[in-house]
Amino acid sequence: MMRLALPLTALLVLTSACGKGGRGHADSATHEATPHWTYAGEGGPDTWGALAADFENCTIGGAQSPVDLPVAAEGAPPALESDHAPVPVRYLFNGHTVQFDGSEGGGITVDGRSYALKQFHVHFPSEHHVAGQSYPGEIHFVHADSSGALAVVGVLVAEGPENPVLAPAVAGLAGLVEGVTVALEATIDPDDLVPEGGYRAYSGSLTTPPCSEGVQWFVMDAPIDLSKGQIDAFAAVTGVSNRPVQPLGDRVVAAGVLD
Ligand SMILES: [Zn+2]
Repeated sequence: MMRLALPLTALLVLTSACGKGGRGHADSATHEATPHWTYAGEGGPDTWGALAADFENCTIGGAQSPVDLPVAAEGAPPALESDHAPVPVRYLFNGHTVQFDGSEGGGITVDGRSYALKQFHVHFPSEHHVAGQSYPGEIHFVHADSSGALAVVGVLVAEGPENPVLAPAVAGLAGLVEGVTVALEATIDPDDLVPEGGYRAYSGSLTTPPCSEGVQWFVMDAPIDLSKGQIDAFAAVTGVSNRPVQPLGDRVVAAGVLD
């Protein structure tokens, strides 16, 4: 049984990467003491910075995410290339989001540097806005380089036809129990969920506590479609799961093209 216990531990640690993996050190020691944070009411985004000493970036950080992305972009973007591979669907509801294990899913290169996919997860409604506009949802593909530096690809979700790539996962959502990883006889190729074409790039943070900065963000211009039923199925599990937009300040947002 020990052979079973190890991969499960690995998955649960990955699970906390959204909130704890700022530099890839999401170890079990920090996992135990994670204060309770939420998206609304007590423990909501306005209070995150006060919940724990290492959450202070949520309040005082000057380069936080998400942001309202401007239409006009300036400067040369980091060059993004996407080279993901199909991953077996292993996912769970971790109390904040539905998170998929991405550990066999290839990765991206940023200015030629490799970042391996760690996990991907959802937010409903979207976290990033574009020219003041929110979207029904957003998917975050979280990658890390060999030093633990993070690069996240954000894909906005629009309401439209059913998304066949996510259909098997959506079908299993109703069976998810908080904290329990479920494996399906299905695969997802993240590149089937990352639209080619334009992207906005900027330097930001984790959008969940501890709101660690130094995260390289790429938000694709083109949304992907999920049907209303698929959006509702995810939102029924996660509830509202978006941090409000944060001040862009003097940060530069650059526009590039993924092809
Ligand atoms: Zn996220």
